[in-house]
Amino acid sequence: MKVERDIVDRTLAELGVECPGPQEPGLVSVSPIDGAPLGRVRMHTAAEVAGMVETARQAYAAWRLVPAPRRGELIRLYADELRAHKQALGRLVSLEAGKIISEGQGEVQEMVDICDFALGLSRQLHGLTIASERPGHRMMETWHPLGVVGVISAFNFPVAVWSWNFALAIVCGNPVIWKPSEKTLLAAQACLALFGRALRRYGDEAPAGLAQVAQGGREVGEALVDDPGVALLSATGSTAMGRAVGPRVAARFGRSLLELGGNNGVIVAPSADLELACRGIVFAAVGTCGQRCTTTRRLIVHADVREALLARLRQAYAHLSIGDPLASGTLVGPLIDAAAFDAMQAALREAVSQGAVVHGGRRVLERKAPKAYYVEPAIAEMPGQTDVVRRETFAPILYVMSYREYDEAIAMHNEVSQGLSSAIFTNDLREAESFLSAAGSDCGIANVNLGTSGAEIGGAFGGNKETGGGRESGSDAWKNYMRRATNTVNYSRQLPLAQGVKFDI
Ligand code: NAD
Repeated sequence: MKVERDIVDRTLAELGVECPGPQEPGLVSVSPIDGAPLGRVRMHTAAEVAGMVETARQAYAAWRLVPAPRRGELIRLYADELRAHKQALGRLVSLEAGKIISEGQGEVQEMVDICDFALGLSRQLHGLTIASERPGHRMMETWHPLGVVGVISAFNFPVAVWSWNFALAIVCGNPVIWKPSEKTLLAAQACLALFGRALRRYGDEAPAGLAQVAQGGREVGEALVDDPGVALLSATGSTAMGRAVGPRVAARFGRSLLELGGNNGVIVAPSADLELACRGIVFAAVGTCGQRCTTTRRLIVHADVREALLARLRQAYAHLSIGDPLASGTLVGPLIDAAAFDAMQAALREAVSQGAVVHGGRRVLERKAPKAYYVEPAIAEMPGQTDVVRRETFAPILYVMSYREYDEAIAMHNEVSQGLSSAIFTNDLREAESFLSAAGSDCGIANVNLGTSGAEIGGAFGGNKETGGGRESGSDAWKNYMRRATNTVNYSRQLPLAQGVKFDI
């Protein structure tokens, strides 16, 4: 299996991505499809990141004064570029992250959707009017642009996660500096190049430095984390990364928005439509080769329907087409790299040592693609929720446990330290409502009769506990990117004090 050079060159050319010459310090982007290099990007130093922050601070001083609906117009123009180049950008996502074509395109569609959302929002950055206890007084809230936003992103959503932050940050009046994953470098350059085209159409109302990309590894991310000029640091990645980043931002009293690892569970009740459950579980467990933060990793199934559901799942797994994500009909592309494959194999060995019966999980297509890592998604039947099940292994492993009582299922579901996405398949109204209640799922996302992955941009996205607590995208997530002021106006000739305090001078 080999990525055609011609496809790569045509894709990069359409998107306006230029790779630096060999004399410049660079980072190489490798395709997980065949393990071969796709291109290079220029690498940045910590000192250069400091310069970017200064440029962004100057941009902020000007951009915060541009009326929000005008800021929205820039995002509208960006959405035009994304619509026009959806195929090419989606293909680049597939080339760099190994997603199947439909998922690569879906990621770009998500960018378009959040731009549309942000455009509407640019006329709705509303504050409250609040009843004052003092006569002749009025209280209100105003929302102001926050400042420079730093975005650190993960490899598995190389463009969508950035756009959730970027589109909202821009309409809220903030410039953005983006440190993409070192595994998906070119997709970031492409997003920047397309935004450059939108800027040219927008005219000179936009200051320089609204969007910048800092390429590099952890050190480049750390430079953003520690810079007091970065007002909000939005970081998406593993819980280990969040554990390192969160306290450092807090130590300088910066604001952070953390979107970290998940360990998402699905409960299948005895009343469930098993056909629907099977389809929902398979998409969420094997889609993106198990490399979504919302991937279903834990299946908690009622003992009475366990065998019937497992039979369907095994049947579906046996017919999955695994291979080149650019080929039509493929459902499961490669793992991102050798480290991901090793982590998967180690987790499966650990599962066996903890009593698992494992189906699948082997490497495939090794002869055709010796430098790439294609695997059969695995189903691991567990004796209970053992240690390996409590951890997120970023690979297609579905751990299966059974339960007898609904309360037992909820307890098992909520027992893990992550809290991103969750679902129940049931036709019992009491169970469904209970799952969504205060005593139900403890996750940021709780679904009924659909899987754990594939969220829409209209809702706030994020999770609780070790998932970090951040919320991005829809609902009122825009408030992360603004600062709130409470204003009191006295239009009387008296000066009454709150709480009836007397202070006569
Ligand atoms: P990762 O944690 O290895 O890297 C994520 C990003 O953080 C990269 O850009 C990396 O360079 C940077 N980074 C790592 N350590 C850093 C540090 N100490 N300081 C500053 N930057 C640092 O994650 P990954 O392997 O790219 O992505 C997979 C993980 O991301 C999974 O755990 C997945 O669940 C999670 N994820 C979460 C969400 C969500 O919305 N909750 C979305 C996508 C991915």
